Amino acid sequence: NVLTHWVPLTEEGELQGVVAVFHDITDIKKLEKIRRDFVANVSHELRTPVTVIKGYAEALIAGALESDPARARRFIEIIYSHSERLANLIGDLLTLSQLESGTLRLELTGVNLERVARHAAELLEQKAAAKEIAVDCSRLTAAPIILADPGRLEQVLINLLDNAIKYSPPGGSVSLLVSDEGPLVKVGVKDTGMGIPPTDLARIFERFYRVDAARSREEGGTGLGLSIVKHIVQLHGGTVGVESEHGKGSTFWFTLKKA
Ligand code: ADP
Repeated sequence: NVLTHWVPLTEEGELQGVVAVFHDITDIKKLEKIRRDFVANVSHELRTPVTVIKGYAEALIAGALESDPARARRFIEIIYSHSERLANLIGDLLTLSQLESGTLRLELTGVNLERVARHAAELLEQKAAAKEIAVDCSRLTAAPIILADPGRLEQVLINLLDNAIKYSPPGGSVSLLVSDEGPLVKVGVKDTGMGIPPTDLARIFERFYRVDAARSREEGGTGLGLSIVKHIVQLHGGTVGVESEHGKGSTFWFTLKKA
């Protein structure tokens, strides 16, 4: 995997010699493959909802709207849920592209973790209530003030809480944990859900990697949530990780600096 090119050395138009330049292109090839896979994944993820929307809209146009209003309503609901999926996917792709191109600037400030977490939990209240899942933020009361971009931190917490709710059976519980680690604060989102098999754990933060793609899609997932989490935390200079016992639950955690 070596790419060679020859650079002629000339002095006043006269060829003096050549220099051969060798590049190891293993990394370039790897990056190309990652990019190709990404484009293929995105196209696939976009095509599915568009096909569904088109199909049901066609059925409505062809007469379902007049002949069977109850059925037509179901079709419209399907169209709506798939447009929502499309909107989520496009939103996540835009965020990810900003994060990866480095155009996203953090606005760092001292942040009250409990306040941000409670706000994130509030936004997911309906979803949690629908599954009778309680989100416990009480342990955050004594958390130190951290240095973060509040909007981005909220996004991290929303993604992790959303997953905790999505991948838990009804009646489960989700709690936020915090521990003081010297100059850092470690924040955890713990659930009593389905957990993650050991073989998948290492890849869970990759773009579009899912343990069960069908289940993720059913839940409105894009497969991008955790990679966005990882990028945002890393942009803050922190690290992310997960501990999970298959069938028992998971704890996703990240570290941030104290203010
Ligand atoms: P998705 O939109 O599919 O939820 P994510 O990037 O947020 O995408 O997560 C990737 C995959 O990791 C999910 O599809 C799911 O298989 C797994 N996962 C994430 N969070 C949890 C969790 N709390 N419990 C079990 N599995 C999880």
